[in-house]
Amino acid sequence: MSTREVILTGDTPTGQLHLGHYFGSVRRRVELQETHDCYFLLANMHAYTTRSENPDEIHSDTLEIVRDYLAMGIDPAKAAILLQSETPAIAELTFLFSMLLPFNRVMRNPTLKEEIKVKGLGENYSFGFPLYAVGQTADILAFRAHSVPVGEDQVPHIELTREVARRFNKLYCGIDENIEDDDPIMLEKGLFPIPRADVGKVGKLIGTDGINKMSKSLNNAILITDNPKKVKKKLGQLYTGRQSVTDPGDPESSLMQYVDIFIADKDRAAELKDKYVRGDNIGDGHIKVEVAEAISELLAPMQERRAQYDGDDDTIIDIIRDGTARANIKTEETLAMAKEVSGLGYFSRAITFGDSK
Ligand code: ATP
Ligand code: MG
Repeated sequence: MSTREVILTGDTPTGQLHLGHYFGSVRRRVELQETHDCYFLLANMHAYTTRSENPDEIHSDTLEIVRDYLAMGIDPAKAAILLQSETPAIAELTFLFSMLLPFNRVMRNPTLKEEIKVKGLGENYSFGFPLYAVGQTADILAFRAHSVPVGEDQVPHIELTREVARRFNKLYCGIDENIEDDDPIMLEKGLFPIPRADVGKVGKLIGTDGINKMSKSLNNAILITDNPKKVKKKLGQLYTGRQSVTDPGDPESSLMQYVDIFIADKDRAAELKDKYVRGDNIGDGHIKVEVAEAISELLAPMQERRAQYDGDDDTIIDIIRDGTARANIKTEETLAMAKEVSGLGYFSRAITFGDSK
């Protein structure tokens, strides 16, 4: 058995991946796949929370996300890329875990509240929408993950997951309430390690609207597949509120976040920032062009790698089938142990996955 720490994270197929994903999570995953047991989950069931009327789009976005993973350097030989909807232990654990959380606790989750607001869901979201937060605790705990590389918007979800893990360990594994999360007894006696959120250096990349988090569903994202012309156009739309080249610019503005992140030459980034903040005869347009070129330079090798998989759905499906089979070995093991300790262990069952084409 592997003694390496387990990493679980994933993405919802609500569109293609963008630079926010790369800097918020995927770049870290590419490092971790070398040293950890990594599982990267395609949260296709969760996409139905807001897009159930578009099943074909969810299907094709799921495959496109895998292409984006490969483009950004995820290696399916090292990390398992798995489909949530074919990992049934996750759904079963979601049901069980939903009993361990007070309803109002789930609804207080600030990320859910924010999503309801910015996605304009109003009062009409489905029952499944808030349930996805519980589902995400099952995504993570089904793998008994130690760490979850995510952007900062996900921290409340990880906190909820930590609560479920503690509660389960206490109720069904006899762990005392006052035991610290990292006490060795938690790992010895408890079924679930208490997972950590691993927030990258760029916890929140702002979108090209200059206001919200860059997001698939908000139309403010620079996609991994955007060509230089598109990148330039999207950056051109970035609103800064500055009127003239001699206006002192805001060092905290989204344009300056982009300079910090994308201009690889740190001296040049500092020079641009200094001139901008002092209003030293430097236009937004000039800085945007330089940032756009830097972004396109970053994306070029990714797009080249991605092109190898254009139109080849069979290879992508093979990658998902293989990753899902590996994932099911782990999650069925967790589920069996969870059932055993929680009064659901009547007899063992075996499900075979991923061997029929
Ligand atoms: P949606 O609009 O459907 O919520 P999203 O663009 O927010 O999509 P998710 O699938 O919710 O993407 O997020 C996947 C992962 O990428 C999460 O770990 C999330 O924190 C991270 N992430 C997404 N957008 C950003 C961003 N702008 N900055 C940093 N991390 C991000
Ligand atoms: Mg999101």
